Amino acid sequence: MLKKKFKNYSPKIKEECGVFGISNYDDASALTALGLHALQHRGQEGCGIVSFDEKKYYSEKRYGLVGDNFNKEKVLKKLPGKFAIGHNRYSTTGGTTLRNIQPFFADTNAGGIGVAHNGNLTNALTIRKKLVKEGAIFYSTSDTEVIIQLIAKSKRSETTDKVIDAIFQIQGGYALVMLAQNKLIGVRDPLGIRPLVIGKIKNSYVLASETCALDIIGAKFLREVENGEVVIIENDKLKSIKPYPPKKPRPCIFEYIYFSRPDSILNGKTTYEFRKKFGEQLAIEDNIEADLVVPVPDSGNAASLGYSQKTKINFDLGLIRNHYVGRTFIEPAQKIRSLGVKLKLNANKSSIKDKKLILIDDSLVRGTTSHKIVKMLYDAGAKEIHVRIASPEIKYPDFYGVDMPTRKELLAANKSVEEIREYIGADSLKFLSIDGLYKAMGFEKRNNTYPQLTDHYFTGDYPVEIIDELGDNKITQLSLLSTGSNN
Ligand code: AMP
Repeated sequence: MLKKKFKNYSPKIKEECGVFGISNYDDASALTALGLHALQHRGQEGCGIVSFDEKKYYSEKRYGLVGDNFNKEKVLKKLPGKFAIGHNRYSTTGGTTLRNIQPFFADTNAGGIGVAHNGNLTNALTIRKKLVKEGAIFYSTSDTEVIIQLIAKSKRSETTDKVIDAIFQIQGGYALVMLAQNKLIGVRDPLGIRPLVIGKIKNSYVLASETCALDIIGAKFLREVENGEVVIIENDKLKSIKPYPPKKPRPCIFEYIYFSRPDSILNGKTTYEFRKKFGEQLAIEDNIEADLVVPVPDSGNAASLGYSQKTKINFDLGLIRNHYVGRTFIEPAQKIRSLGVKLKLNANKSSIKDKKLILIDDSLVRGTTSHKIVKMLYDAGAKEIHVRIASPEIKYPDFYGVDMPTRKELLAANKSVEEIREYIGADSLKFLSIDGLYKAMGFEKRNNTYPQLTDHYFTGDYPVEIIDELGDNKITQLSLLSTGSNN
């Protein structure tokens, strides 16, 4: 069983990320910058744009946020042309290097190609090891470079064929946006684990991780790229091919629960609507009486509204969020580290004092957030706190592109619900059931023979083998990571 094999697996490379591409449109790089800005929640470590002006390619990659880097005409002038792709990179800890910031670019015998990738390949280290044995030199530690190398190595003469050659060899969750001269190419993995959508602005096509990136530039949302579909956009024409053996889609459940922006549309509805439904279902499965429903902002907002509307228990803001705390904020001194979560959230005393609260968040991972917030709310005078989580217990790590810690760190992998309740210090604790989650998404229940979504976080049912961890292929660390190279 796959779930036993990965009991203590500790993934080293994390790729969450947002991707964007636009073809045959004036100021392509400026629109790409806007698209990346809307996708900022998918990655804040670095960002990059590759453009093509029908003669040459141009590339700019930066650490940090899109708004701090691609906000000046001076920078965008360095990225001329009507064709551009862009990428936001997500990283959890350490190993930050400019070399890992995308899009990657390579010259092949069919011309240049830029690649932006969201997801995580489960056989990248295995392929990398083989390519290195054959003499390949790698520049980064990112699994995306494997794709570039496979494209460059393909014996086929057409770019599209080279791409198909390469994607046949990779496994995992991936959404790719590529630029090969004036061809914009989009690929979604055979199960459609990672998202990718198609939009149109005037006669030009746009590809993006989420529809919120289309809204910001005024593009119309056409449809999702289907699972296992390759779209090739050239001269304002879109060609679709399905090179993989057909499979039923299994998109990642975590895009619905947490990762996508609430205003982005997945499977015909905004994720906000789905999250409200998760909250409603949580209420249906619950029977607690309380004075107020309080969200953990912003991740618990939609579910809390759903819960409150279903139960008719008042919704109120019991926590106020400081919006200027970036993910990369470094707590300056040991002495003030104990302030912890207060940097981001503070209790709203006036609304919670002497009240019995239902505190709702979208998910519980390590339990750190809930642990600190519960204490903060008690200290501010709450009478009772009943924590409700709008997704089931996360017991298994991810390998397809969502940042989930090791099994050792996942609270629900190691503790019962009662033990978690004790750890976070709440009066009671409940998670949404797995069938309840599916029900809230419009299914009768989880189809155990062919699950409708990628949901291993809760079930241990990994739909794609984690090749890098099987047999003798274990490569746990890459030299570039261990030296902490910084360029
Ligand atoms: P924890 O404090 O570790 O239990 O994390 C739970 C909080 O992290 C919740 O507020 C979630 O909204 C948020 N969260 C869930 N999944 C992720 C993820 N993959 N990356 C970053 N934050 C997450």
